[in-house]
Amino acid sequence: MDKDLDALADLARAFFEKECAPHEPRWCAQQLVDREIWRRAGELGLLCMSLPEEYGGGGGTFAHDAVVSIEQVRAMAPSFGGMLHSGIVAHYLNAYGTEEQKQRWLPPMATGDIITAIAMTEPGTGSDLQSITTSAVRDGDDYVINGAKTFISNGMLADLVVVAAKTDPTARGAEGVSLIAVESTRDGFRRGRNLAKIGQHGQDTCELFFDDVRVPAFNLIGDHEGQGFLQLMLQLPQERLFLAIAAAAAIEKTVDLTLAYTRERKAFGKPLLGFQNTQFVLAECDTVKTIAWTFLDDCIVRHLDAALDIPTAAKAKWWLTEQQCQVVDRCVQLFGGYGYMEEYPIARLYADARVQKVYGGTNEIMKTIIAKSL
Ligand SMILES: Cc1cc2nc3c(=O)[nH]c(=O)nc-3n(C[C@H](O)[C@H](O)[C@H](O)COP(=O)(O)OP(=O)(O)OC[C@H]3O[C@@H](n4cnc5c(N)ncnc54)[C@H](O)[C@@H]3O)c2cc1C
Repeated sequence: MDKDLDALADLARAFFEKECAPHEPRWCAQQLVDREIWRRAGELGLLCMSLPEEYGGGGGTFAHDAVVSIEQVRAMAPSFGGMLHSGIVAHYLNAYGTEEQKQRWLPPMATGDIITAIAMTEPGTGSDLQSITTSAVRDGDDYVINGAKTFISNGMLADLVVVAAKTDPTARGAEGVSLIAVESTRDGFRRGRNLAKIGQHGQDTCELFFDDVRVPAFNLIGDHEGQGFLQLMLQLPQERLFLAIAAAAAIEKTVDLTLAYTRERKAFGKPLLGFQNTQFVLAECDTVKTIAWTFLDDCIVRHLDAALDIPTAAKAKWWLTEQQCQVVDRCVQLFGGYGYMEEYPIARLYADARVQKVYGGTNEIMKTIIAKSL
């Protein structure tokens, strides 16, 4: 942290606490945030903070996006999908897009005028990305896209979706995969159900269908076909680091909430915190919190130096999300029955945590990546 990042943390905290958290119950009920909140985030400069200023970005670094992510968790306002948009999709376009693509799409992304998503997962395959069947076949100056995607975050609101598709269905494995940007206004693009999840209720997650969707060849991301798998492999560590950051911040929030509750709540004539079991559970969870932040800090510093390797990012993702789930499970227990009630923030932290071990590459896939590096 430095003065600049401290000031950003203040701004982000105020935004999430005052302008997002109060709307969470409504957003959860409608399974969607208001589009207006995206423009508000853009107005405050909280979108695309790590993109170059020439494309409307904040000219900052990964540290800026990380600070915003941490404040979002602390404020208990998980529904806004800005991290995926700014920290992940924008970086595919910035790293691999042509100059014209960057000028067309990045400035409206930074203002919140267009919302983005990334669509890799399909009904038939998630972990095994090389087996995707969505196809993008070249026809003159266009690609014609056919297929279906599922579990797509920001999918209901997205104006632009970066789609992983096979441009060469005959190529084996990773070789035929390309990333193509698809505008939601294209004929044949259709959104399916906004999926009902066990947590993260205010975050839209949906199915997308592509029926003969025609996009200009201009929309291919990268200078030639077949680069998609490599592009994904190079960008996924950053996505995994964001998930690890969310995990560490959630562990911290969980410990804070549980300490406050166990100080107040009494049983057998004394505060719950007076029982040695409560003290030991919280001592252990607080230790995990310290180790989580220390490991993460090291990963962030390495990433800022462009030196975070793929296996280390995988370690951060699986380990921190596993710790998050264990810590929140143990802390829910200390709330007794109240921990199971949705109106208690700890219950939301519990339900929201579970998917962390699944998305962004499952924790088992993280371990296969690490194992290959041994
Ligand atoms: C809320 C939510 C949001 C999401 N957002 C997005 C998004 O925005 N964009 C997107 O593209 N995807 C998104 N996903 C999809 C997510 O990334 C996938 O669900 C995840 O990658 C797992 O794929 P799968 O569901 O097909 O499970 P599968 O691949 O079928 O895996 C099932 C089980 O088998 C295990 N397994 C699979 N292969 C192996 C192996 N080789 N070794 C050991 N175990 C293995 C897995 O670890 C898992 O436990 C989201 C998912 C959720 C739930």
